Amino acid sequence: MNTCVGVVLSVLAFQESDQIVTVFSPSGIVKFFVKRKRSPLLSALTEGEFVYAAGRGDMNKFRDGSILEQHLKLRDRLENLEAAGKLVQAVMQSQMPGKAAPHLYQLFCYCLRMIPEVERPLDLAALFLVKTLKHEGLFQQLQRCTACEKNPSSRYGGERYCAEHAPRGSLKLNYEEEERLIELANGRSLKELLAKPLEQHAQITTLFDQEFPTKPFTA
Ligand SMILES: [Zn+2]
Repeated sequence: MNTCVGVVLSVLAFQESDQIVTVFSPSGIVKFFVKRKRSPLLSALTEGEFVYAAGRGDMNKFRDGSILEQHLKLRDRLENLEAAGKLVQAVMQSQMPGKAAPHLYQLFCYCLRMIPEVERPLDLAALFLVKTLKHEGLFQQLQRCTACEKNPSSRYGGERYCAEHAPRGSLKLNYEEEERLIELANGRSLKELLAKPLEQHAQITTLFDQEFPTKPFTA
């Protein structure tokens, strides 16, 4: 029997009475097949301890578990749930079974706890996207175009390009926008980073989707 701590990302009904539950844990995404068992632990955004037996491939067999934190305050505001939904989506897009991510997991849990406390939860969610790109090595701080020595004016694939070498789908960023993204990627105090409203939601989503295209969900 194995155990892990983690946060439930999604619960899919499977056939008549079974479920497939996707959990984010420090050792990466873990998937559970749950046979005819209903438990409050097995609901989205619940943090808990899971007891399971290894199954075939990436699919494990859920046996038992206990709730550590239900994050009920996330349900107090619609904005909280939207922000939490963006965090979940970002993890589903960027992480996978067998790819340990203890630091990102820690940040994910911290953000879930902070969402109800901050003034603009969606800003916190956008910050999490930037931190995830940085975590994956996909946000390099470069002063020059990757292909030549010119000043860069856009980003693509974690790198920066001048107008001439920018690949299709690159995101144009002016000096201030680039500086703000760098600040978000490197800054350590969430409170300071979120002190002023974040204007670059669309840009951040574009950068994230360049790296992690939305996949149709497969169990
Ligand atoms: Zn160039």
